Amino acid sequence: MPYFDSFQRPISYLRVSVTDRCNLRCVYCMPEGGVAQIPHQDILRYEELERIVRVAVGMGINHVRLTGGEPLVRSGIVELVTALAAIPGLDDLSMTTNGTLLARYADALAQAGLRRVNISLDTLDPKRFRQTTRLGTLAEVLAGRKAALRAGLRPVKINTVVIRGLNDDEVVELARQTFQPDWHLRFIEVMPLGSGVHWAGDGVVPSAEIRARIAAAWGELTPVHGKTGVGPARYYRLPHAEGTLGFISAISEHFCHACNRLRLTSDGQILPCLMSNQSVDLKTPLRAGVDDATLQEIFEQAIRAKPRGHHLTEGILPLNVRPMSGIGG
Ligand code: SAM
Ligand code: SF4
Repeated sequence: MPYFDSFQRPISYLRVSVTDRCNLRCVYCMPEGGVAQIPHQDILRYEELERIVRVAVGMGINHVRLTGGEPLVRSGIVELVTALAAIPGLDDLSMTTNGTLLARYADALAQAGLRRVNISLDTLDPKRFRQTTRLGTLAEVLAGRKAALRAGLRPVKINTVVIRGLNDDEVVELARQTFQPDWHLRFIEVMPLGSGVHWAGDGVVPSAEIRARIAAAWGELTPVHGKTGVGPARYYRLPHAEGTLGFISAISEHFCHACNRLRLTSDGQILPCLMSNQSVDLKTPLRAGVDDATLQEIFEQAIRAKPRGHHLTEGILPLNVRPMSGIGG
């Protein structure tokens, strides 16, 4: 049974950031020169992560998603997946990745016990891809997607951050991909975190607007209920399409009432809410040698600290929140 927070939300999902490093510099996430990196000694070691996840699973967490920075730049990531996949009660182990290194790792990750991946991809135009990520190559990500499908890391969901003037002219073309097999897309409203602070505001394209543009081109979107996962996305399907279209709208259609998650940063802080600067330190007691019961109490404290919701709709921005690359999305 999962723990419930003060607003009767069951907490069953932990997002684990395994590194704050990344091989890309997406314009809405990181500045061109990168961000100050967490010193190596402060990053949780794999055996520490395994122990933490074991405790969390013992409290009813049944889904863990590995994220970053870019999780695939951390060496030994396959061994971490092997260790986590062996934890009884962990039903779903997934990863969010920029996909650039997936062609190299997909088979090994699948064999190690990873279930599925979400790949971030904001454009299908190679030149624009380079401009948006500053360092990436579109062909690598598309090859990574294919490798993930071949390895059985399904469903592969594509996460697309939509920004007005940057890639919003592509939403219709991106949605068209769902007429082909194995294309599941999720459109994400840009959030005021990291470099996203510069884009949120005029850059936000409300999900309702994206849906209207897609419907005008391809026909009515039919809601898909309960089929493609719990969480913040609302899912739809185009007429005769195989794949689904999800919409994650932290601002225009916010989903705090259904929030089921905690986040763990790579330096061992539990974040009760993405949009809050609150954090609960797990690393210091862990390294001081506390027992599992104490770690569990720290998790309980973080669950109790979950706020009812964020206040972005009232125009209140959270202060001193870590950049998205340090939280993991
Ligand atoms: N590097 C991996 C990747 O890009 O998939 C994992 C970490 S990344 C921080 C996780 C997700 O956060 C990505 O899908 C990315 O597009 C999204 N993201 C980053 N900055 C954002 C922002 N300001 N607003 C909305 N989504 C953002
Ligand atoms: Fe790196 Fe992911 Fe941020 Fe892009 S969105 S800079 S790939 S962490």
